Amino acid sequence: MTIGILGGGQLGYMLALAGYPLGLHFRFLDPSPEAPVGRIATRITAQFTDRSALKKFAAGLELVTYEFENVPVETARFLAERVPMLPPPAALEAAQDRLNEKRLFQKLGIDTTEFAAVADAHSLDDAVQQIGLPAILKTCRMGYDGKGQWILRKTEDIGRAKAELPAANAPGAAKRRGTELAQQSVPFLLERLVPFTRELSVLAVRGRTGETAVYPLVENHHRAGILRLSLAPAPQLDPAIQRAAEDAARRVFDALQYVGVLAIEFFEHEGRLLANEMAPRVHNSGHWTIEGALTSQFENHLRAVVGLPLGSTHAIGCSAMLNLIGEVPDSAEVLAVRDAHLHLYGKSARAGRKLGHVTLRASSPEELASRLVELPGYFHRPEFCLDAVLRHATSARG
Ligand code: AMP
Repeated sequence: MTIGILGGGQLGYMLALAGYPLGLHFRFLDPSPEAPVGRIATRITAQFTDRSALKKFAAGLELVTYEFENVPVETARFLAERVPMLPPPAALEAAQDRLNEKRLFQKLGIDTTEFAAVADAHSLDDAVQQIGLPAILKTCRMGYDGKGQWILRKTEDIGRAKAELPAANAPGAAKRRGTELAQQSVPFLLERLVPFTRELSVLAVRGRTGETAVYPLVENHHRAGILRLSLAPAPQLDPAIQRAAEDAARRVFDALQYVGVLAIEFFEHEGRLLANEMAPRVHNSGHWTIEGALTSQFENHLRAVVGLPLGSTHAIGCSAMLNLIGEVPDSAEVLAVRDAHLHLYGKSARAGRKLGHVTLRASSPEELASRLVELPGYFHRPEFCLDAVLRHATSARG
């Protein structure tokens, strides 16, 4: 059985690695000739809008899934007419536009930050009136890893943001992996800046028969808009918060008739969860599941889309996942630490690029903290956010 995957980055790479033991074969489509999956699977190098390449890609496939959520919706629809597409194209459509996504959350009764649509520089003033300051202005489409965002704390920041808005909206400004930004109905969204306690994400999976499984919530730490560290399960997790996250995931599942893994990112604020965004795919904050859960997010995504029973999402002890951004440490030094697992994606080094990750597993938060301390010097820079783990470990002891 051959599964087609749109996008050939590290998420696709790890999907294929999880699928080979299940007897699955893969064919990828990615605009970049450097896409990491080229090392391990058949890859078609073409734009997502290239119809003849799409036909060639779809020929003989059992189904198509995606690891990149900015695949144009028309591409997803074109393929879905030829071969089953899971998660459904409607999930892509909802997740590609922050305003659609927030409105969906709102419709489903899932709490979000306060927000307002911003059509252009002129309507920013009205939105600020409505939301107040501090606020965060975001492009509705193609923003990722903190790009396309302006934090507005003071009135002067509004003028500064306005001056930059046309540039952010210019043709070609929001290109990523060869995908042109075509639609720009409402380009921006203004959100209240929430002084959250922490950022959490939930990974959940729904099978073809409607069966669901949910991983424990994960605590995420970002620097410069990029995920650096995930702790799983999130330390000191209130079961009511876990239930709220599961409930949110199930509402989205039902609304979209979803099949596959779904990630929802939240802010924990005053004991409540506020949904920030969702990704209709496997997610960076779920990488810990490869070693840290009974079934990885990658395997569960494939089980779901293929129609196999889902695997247990139970966590094995505690895990920390650290992203390797821009450069990689010495492999031997990492692997000298007990229960440290290294994943290199085979990408060439470039500033700000996710090149790999390390998952460290332990039987308790205290053991996890002491194992993190043993990691080589590379990881003891502020951007790895290790202080967060050590803080939890200390407060757990106290
Ligand atoms: P996003 O692209 O929406 O995931 O935003 C990137 C990062 O900016 C998030 O991980 C948060 O750290 C921060 N952020 C985004 N929206 C808000 C908000 N409404 N309030 C506070 N921080 C935010």
